[in-house]
Amino acid sequence: MRVLKNINEVDFSKGDGLVPVIIQDQVSNKVLMLGYMNAEALEKTLSEGKVTFFSRSKNRLWTKGETSNNYIFVKEALIDCDSDTILIKAKPEGPTCHKGDDTCFEESNEIGVEFLDQLTQVIKERKTKSPEESYVSHLFSKGMNKIAQKVGEEAVELVIEAKDNDESLFLNEGADLLFHYMVLLEAKGYTLKDVISILKERHK
Ligand code: AMP
Ligand code: ZN
Ligand code: ZN
Ligand code: ZN
Repeated sequence: MRVLKNINEVDFSKGDGLVPVIIQDQVSNKVLMLGYMNAEALEKTLSEGKVTFFSRSKNRLWTKGETSNNYIFVKEALIDCDSDTILIKAKPEGPTCHKGDDTCFEESNEIGVEFLDQLTQVIKERKTKSPEESYVSHLFSKGMNKIAQKVGEEAVELVIEAKDNDESLFLNEGADLLFHYMVLLEAKGYTLKDVISILKERHK
């Protein structure tokens, strides 16, 4: 997949001047919607950093969010192998579907372990904030040893709660431990994926 730098790279000829554009949430990786762009829509999208389609039903340029304010902000535009399809990684403002769902494909909003991917992204983002604004940034500012120590403390708290009967505290300490472990991984330049690779390797 190539980064789309210049609109001249796109082959509009196959679709009568239109190319399909997949909009994917940059954080959750969910496919939000699919629309079509002509050269003018693509130009506007790239210059404004906000998704504008050519609407086949309205028969005009349509900036997603123009009435609902649920705009879709462009993070990265990519082009496929034969230059006839675009993938936009984006940050949506509010629900993308006009029927109120996050996505037009009604993917369940209930998320399981994939939520950890989102959390990884959130941790990365917060790292850039000031320590006053964000607890995560505050942790990073204290340095690796402090973060590792915090993981140790949470582990001890978990052990204590495991002996007690309060299930809620037990689960909460588990959440604290996992969260701080993820911050430690980020501080060392890793993510949970690196740990998962090792687990997979062992499982062979
Ligand atoms: P919006 O662009 O969000 O202000 O919505 C304006 C109109 O565009 C809506 O009333 C719908 O007719 C249509 N629309 C908005 N979002 C979508 C979508 N995700 N898929 C199809 N049509 C949409
Ligand atoms: Zn293609
Ligand atoms: Zn929809
Ligand atoms: Zn705790």
